[in-house]
Amino acid sequence: MPSKSKTPSEVLVVGAGPVGMFTALRLAESGIGVQLIDQAPCTAGHSYACALHPRTLQLLDEVGIAQDAIKLGHLIETVAFYEGAFQRAELKLSLLPVKFPFVLVLQQNILEDLLEQKLKERAGLEVRWNRRLADLAMKNGAAIATIDELAMEGKGYSVPHSEMAVKKTVSVSADFVVGADGQGSIVRERLGIDYARAGKPQLFVVYEFETKAQLPSEISIVVDQHMAGVLWPFTQNKGRWSFQWLRANAPADFPQKARSSFTIVGSPGAEDSRHHLHKLLSAHAPWFQAEIKEVGWAKDIQFEHRLARQFGRDRAWLAGDAAHQTGPIGMQSMNMGFREGADLAAKLTRILRDKGSPDLLETYDVEHQMEWEQLLGWKGGLQANSATDAWIRQRSVRIPGCIPASGEELTLLLHQLGLEFKPAQLEKVGTEDTVSV
Ligand SMILES: Cc1cc2nc3c(=O)[nH]c(=O)nc-3n(C[C@H](O)[C@H](O)[C@H](O)COP(=O)(O)OP(=O)(O)OC[C@H]3O[C@@H](n4cnc5c(N)ncnc54)[C@H](O)[C@@H]3O)c2cc1C
Repeated sequence: MPSKSKTPSEVLVVGAGPVGMFTALRLAESGIGVQLIDQAPCTAGHSYACALHPRTLQLLDEVGIAQDAIKLGHLIETVAFYEGAFQRAELKLSLLPVKFPFVLVLQQNILEDLLEQKLKERAGLEVRWNRRLADLAMKNGAAIATIDELAMEGKGYSVPHSEMAVKKTVSVSADFVVGADGQGSIVRERLGIDYARAGKPQLFVVYEFETKAQLPSEISIVVDQHMAGVLWPFTQNKGRWSFQWLRANAPADFPQKARSSFTIVGSPGAEDSRHHLHKLLSAHAPWFQAEIKEVGWAKDIQFEHRLARQFGRDRAWLAGDAAHQTGPIGMQSMNMGFREGADLAAKLTRILRDKGSPDLLETYDVEHQMEWEQLLGWKGGLQANSATDAWIRQRSVRIPGCIPASGEELTLLLHQLGLEFKPAQLEKVGTEDTVSV
């Protein structure tokens, strides 16, 4: 029988990834009592979603973090599209009528550390690490969360080792729960919300590297007949290439974020990785001439197009990867998660402080569902005009997922390419084999 926690909160945020930490910060800055828990012992150890969209920078600015993030990242104003040896199209983020008309390349581990630090400084809020949501139920107009408190425990006699064990289980009551608990969301699962999937899974291989020469000051996207790839410059001579492999078939579990940043540079596998990267570059990006000095981190990851059929219900609502996944090129899942977190925090604040109607949360569901259905190509589709370049026209379905933007900025950037979203019709989500990239 779990003991009752003495600290009921107005909102319990489950998951201290970027979306959970940001949502907790927005809530705390509005004077809402927040608890933020995560089953892991600390922030992520790798770069993962390594770029912030113009809108995300705006949202971070509203909580006084954008300038600190900008000091830590690498600012890029141009997105270029390539096929074979040629550049086919270019987007100028600098033409966007927004406060931050650029993308900030910033590794996710650095972003998470910054968010954790700002939570403490600005809101006096500490992440409660090593706390795992084990169960969730709705009772008497509240959400009741069962939380396992975890601790390292020595195990084994002949081969001593340690592993996480449950030290204590507590029950926490909250007015609302935000499920920002990523792909395998237990909040989504306990709400019984289906996680619809469409299209084939896409396997990507990621290489982080250092070059001898200067990298281009642009996000370079390769879209050829059958695959896609992207180059993200982290600094002038460090960056990440991600290439789509063609052999992803069966859906595989999405990997958990690692918490250690330890990579073995110069390990036996590193030379193989460098060789594979060179092969991919000569086949798909022959224009890329910078010599690869070293490959640091290399990983295969399978991404899918998935969308929760509802963004929550009753007293528990989802944001970020708990509600969706898409391909990695446009960095949309995490960035749109920031917009969802800001919207959800504002709506919960209205309900908890200004007698706002709970119907606000139904609107939250409908609006974000619709935007995702459009982005994933499940509804609406794109239209070209008579001036649209033939190359763009032929690949139009694959373009929106490659652009590091969403909402109005995405619409404006698509416009630069002569594309626009068709108005979406209200229909049910989740058909098979509709989109790629
Ligand atoms: C190897 C890898 C490579 C990636 N590459 C890219 C890329 O190139 N482009 C891209 O756009 N995205 C990429 N991603 C995805 C990107 O990292 C996510 O979109 C982003 O982390 C989503 O943020 P989030 O806050 O919604 O969820 P997450 O960052 O997943 O955070 C969820 C948090 O919830 C916690 N949690 C889960 N279950 C529980 C529970 N029961 N109780 C308490 N806490 C819980 C987890 O420990 C985690 O910290 C990659 C991810 C991985 C793992």
